[in-house]
Amino acid sequence: MKRISCACSKNASFRHYDLAADLPARHCPDCHAILLAMQDYLPWIERHFSDRQTVEPAPLPGRETPSRARPCPACQRIMGRYRTGDENSFWLDFCPPCGLVWLDAGEWEQLERNGLSPYLDIILTERWQKDIQSHKASSVRDDLLRERFGEAAFAEIRQVREWLGQQPNKRDILAYLSASLSGRNAK
Ligand SMILES: [Zn+2]
Ligand SMILES: [Zn+2]
Repeated sequence: MKRISCACSKNASFRHYDLAADLPARHCPDCHAILLAMQDYLPWIERHFSDRQTVEPAPLPGRETPSRARPCPACQRIMGRYRTGDENSFWLDFCPPCGLVWLDAGEWEQLERNGLSPYLDIILTERWQKDIQSHKASSVRDDLLRERFGEAAFAEIRQVREWLGQQPNKRDILAYLSASLSGRNAK
């Protein structure tokens, strides 16, 4: 793997890091930024999300969080900024010539929480970015989940989610459901 330095400190350089099972990326041990190559990401999508729905995005407008554009750590060109459009919208930095996505610490986890981690390549399209600017009302996550589970199941999921959100011991309930449905500790 080509050595790439991180601008956060003089000696920091990106190291191999498994972002998810079967998804290699690079990680800066100093600032915890993640560099993800599209050439690793796209085959991962093929292998694990081959049933991924084609999405007609209708995302929330991204919260305007002006922050500095950063140079690509591989080629030093200024990276493009792309709104994610999820609930706590943040910007992804992407260098198209290198195919490298920059993720600040915690951003991948946030994409995962919002069900957006399998849609990175779609988020980085002009179409998605335009839709984020033109749509005001609906949430991208809801649209994705509605596509994925179907309208009826999605309505049920929302009800369960709402009920669960009101329970003081929701983590216990979730842990129990998850364990019993996966067959472990099923009693
Ligand atoms: Zn760094
Ligand atoms: Zn670059």
